[in-house]
Amino acid sequence: MKTGLFLADTKARTLLEVESSNESSVRIYCCGPTVYRDAHVGNLRTFLLSDLIVRTLNFLGHSATLVQNITDVGHMSDDFEEDKMLAQSQLERRDPFTIAREYEEHFHTDLARLNISKAKRYPRASESIELMQALIEHLIELKSAYVGEDGSVYFSAQSFPTYGAISGNRLDDLKPGHRYEYTEDGAKRFHADWALWKAAGKRTEMIWPSPWGAGFPGWHIECSAMSMHFLGETVDLHVGGIDLRFPHHENERAQSNASIHNRELVSMWVHGEHLLFEGRKMSKSAGNVVLLNDLINKGLDPLALRLALMENRYRSQMDLTWSALEAANKTILRWRRNIAQWALAPRIEVDISDFKVFLANDLDTPKVILQLRALEKSEATDSQKYATFIAMDRVLALDLQRRTQEEELSTEARELLDARELARANKDFVMSDVLREKLQAIGIDVLDTPDGQSW
Ligand code: AMP
Ligand code: ZN
Repeated sequence: MKTGLFLADTKARTLLEVESSNESSVRIYCCGPTVYRDAHVGNLRTFLLSDLIVRTLNFLGHSATLVQNITDVGHMSDDFEEDKMLAQSQLERRDPFTIAREYEEHFHTDLARLNISKAKRYPRASESIELMQALIEHLIELKSAYVGEDGSVYFSAQSFPTYGAISGNRLDDLKPGHRYEYTEDGAKRFHADWALWKAAGKRTEMIWPSPWGAGFPGWHIECSAMSMHFLGETVDLHVGGIDLRFPHHENERAQSNASIHNRELVSMWVHGEHLLFEGRKMSKSAGNVVLLNDLINKGLDPLALRLALMENRYRSQMDLTWSALEAANKTILRWRRNIAQWALAPRIEVDISDFKVFLANDLDTPKVILQLRALEKSEATDSQKYATFIAMDRVLALDLQRRTQEEELSTEARELLDARELARANKDFVMSDVLREKLQAIGIDVLDTPDGQSW
């Protein structure tokens, strides 16, 4: 079933219409976090992308089923041949699973703060070992994979005819010695092969028994096994950050397709571009990693990040700055104040078809926001403004109906507002008016709405 939503497909290198293969729901898989640290605002940009897709599909009248994995084992670091989880566990001197569960919880808290709607499932890699082993066994039977002399299992890149279709990195271009993945070669038969299962070697933690001996899974096989198990024989849309295009998604595609006799498992591959902060790539070593908590500690609403991110198209590289976040924070507060006022006008229905066109055209959120800013300043009636902003908040999810933050108030203002609320409840309108004037004198305009007093 066609959805009317067009997105940039990395493999086709053009815009394609999202279709649901099962008539009921668009099946989406989004690569999730590796839970050895908190997600930074760049990671959150990618997680926001799948939410924007889901919300837009809902807005256009379609249902979507999102699955996002939790990587708590097997993601090797690029710089050195070490599992990211175990490296962190050594650093913190804590059990790797304790660390994983803690950061997984932080991940869910961050998503909730950004109004990123919940996926249907968040399967953990460490709890999907049997799924991965079954898939690896199947790939060995099909001769797409082999057991190396070191007890690890490798995927045979040359057995997969269309390797490189997503990234353009064809096997012929990947010369021996070309370091496109970890430094270690193990017992690969061909330089571009990769491990599906790694023999434990000296490793004692986060290992599982397997038909090939004790070991642990590779990162790429995790997403193949989980996407096929939880979403079925077709994945309509696969989402991730641009850095995952190669080798992660290329290898994932080879594994998944090979296991279903070279049928295409994923219909569309959509990648979010990277986020820079104050002009630089965020990295631990440079000390410029920004977390959602850093925004909160500066007194900013986490949704200021959501708005700032949406002011750029997902597939353009974006440079986020503190001043952009502060400006976004101000905009949200102003919109909430305006909306409380516009809410007093009579309710009407509005035509939002223009906005649907913007979103359906490859999630043009910058245009949606520009149009809302223009509407805010325009001569349109309060009723029109209210209805349009509220309708668009289904996708923007900026909590525009929330009362402006209590924390902004001084103690004096808070006490006056509380006293006025009490006076109104007691129908003491004389006192209520006196208090209104006192509030006005300290710069606070009070409005009486059907839902109570707002300011
Ligand atoms: P990780 O937790 O490192 O596995 O990354 C989670 C997701 O964030 C992946 O989809 C990455 O592609 C994505 N990602 C990593 N860095 C950035 C960045 N600076 N901007 C946007 N997305 C990113
Ligand atoms: Zn993945």
